Amino acid sequence: MSDVDVCVVGAGFAGLTAALRLKRSGHSVALLEARDRVGGRTFTVSGPDGLWIDRGGAWIGPGQDAILRLMREFDVPSYKQYVDGRAIMVTGGKQYRYKGTIPLTMSPWVVANMGAVFAELGHMSKSIPLEAPWTAKNADKWDRITLADWLDRHTLSEQARTLLEAAIAGCHTSAGSEVSMLFALYQMASGGGPGFLLGVENGAEDARPVGGMGAISGPMTTELGDAVHLNRPVRRIVQDDDGVTVHANGITIRARRVVVAVPIAIAGQILYEPMLPVDRSFLHQRMPSGAVIKTNLVYRTPFWRDDGLSGQSFAPGSPATLTIDASTDRPQPGVLCVIDEGPMARRLTKLGPADRRRAVLASVAERLGEKVRTPVDYVEQNWTVERYSGGGMMSHAPTGVLTEFGPALREPCGRVHWAGTESSAVMCGWVDGAVRSGERAAAEVVAQLV
Ligand SMILES: Cc1cc2nc3c(=O)[nH]c(=O)nc-3n(C[C@H](O)[C@H](O)[C@H](O)COP(=O)(O)OP(=O)(O)OC[C@H]3O[C@@H](n4cnc5c(N)ncnc54)[C@H](O)[C@@H]3O)c2cc1C
Repeated sequence: MSDVDVCVVGAGFAGLTAALRLKRSGHSVALLEARDRVGGRTFTVSGPDGLWIDRGGAWIGPGQDAILRLMREFDVPSYKQYVDGRAIMVTGGKQYRYKGTIPLTMSPWVVANMGAVFAELGHMSKSIPLEAPWTAKNADKWDRITLADWLDRHTLSEQARTLLEAAIAGCHTSAGSEVSMLFALYQMASGGGPGFLLGVENGAEDARPVGGMGAISGPMTTELGDAVHLNRPVRRIVQDDDGVTVHANGITIRARRVVVAVPIAIAGQILYEPMLPVDRSFLHQRMPSGAVIKTNLVYRTPFWRDDGLSGQSFAPGSPATLTIDASTDRPQPGVLCVIDEGPMARRLTKLGPADRRRAVLASVAERLGEKVRTPVDYVEQNWTVERYSGGGMMSHAPTGVLTEFGPALREPCGRVHWAGTESSAVMCGWVDGAVRSGERAAAEVVAQLV
């Protein structure tokens, strides 16, 4: 049994930030992490040759001021995403090579339809109050339907519908039929609109920290020192009049307050005594995560650049749905990131590793050529089956959840405070949102401790 002011559960960016801010404000902290590493849904691995690879969250974009501030605190520079050359889109049985947002050589009907829907989404997302999306004028209407329902009604071309559903629902790593339209709009709005969500340059994949996300979480962990306890999955949190007792494997912490910074999808796996208020308890039962596999293919050089390609490609329904250049700030080696989301990620999960690898490489080779088939390294991270993530990239709200249970997202339950990217009004779902949530939870706790 160890006594501290605050116990933080989960050492992803939310928990690390909360713990760091609390420690710097003079409070004693214990940070309990289930895994044998920090970082949570970010996971940077480095090889002996100095190559670093982000197996989870990686990119940053404009407006993500909280993570940018943290990078400045720890002197972590950023570098721009490689965007030169043409992107590839496979749709309607054809492969398009293009510059810009979408291939303008697709049928004018599809292009016009996509443009109109995109503009409408921008307009709708502007009407969402970020701190309380459930109070939006049309909240009830939009929370009754799924993203897929809305697209069914507003896309006139089947091709536009498929592309838009894969792009938007892909961000929640689910099928559009699983996600509430209100939630989709809220998440879009929390990043500044559809342009940020779906864009690369000046969007969510604008830049990367040099050294990967681990270059930030590493020094945070060092500064926290022996406050960090790895391999300590928290099983039970017991509140009483004087404090809170946090029971983890092999350690018990007595604290005045606790910050729980685990994904909402698995927050209900902890036993809370007394039981949490009904809305928070039900929220835990109602916000699942999606499925996502991130695979980094390593090549001696980024050969696609020599072929005039950016490395960015999008082929909904294929075993390599999205690709993007994920090379470091050095000219070589070349790293190509493949993202599979939602139903496709689940389908691939059911294959053996060799079949999955074959399917992914064959699919990318159709776009970038035969050199794809012989990577020098193949680094796969299947977040879908990660016990302490519960899936990825984020927990989402199906229909009816945000309007009924949204207010419980951040509301403390006695001595239990909540952090995690899903609880952030701004940049919800991104690393930046996780940092913001950690800062907000730390401030909440500090206000209670004075
Ligand atoms: C494949 C993928 C790609 C992504 N790409 C990007 C990107 O490019 N840019 C971006 O900004 N975001 C991206 N994201 C999202 C981003 O990674 C997350 O939003 C962010 O890392 C969430 O941080 P968090 O601290 O809220 O949660 P997490 O990182 O999930 O941290 C929660 C922590 O709690 C721990 N934990 C769980 N249960 C317990 C327990 N019972 N006891 C103790 N500890 C527990 C976990 O092990 C984990 O360390 C991506 C995510 C994935 C999966």
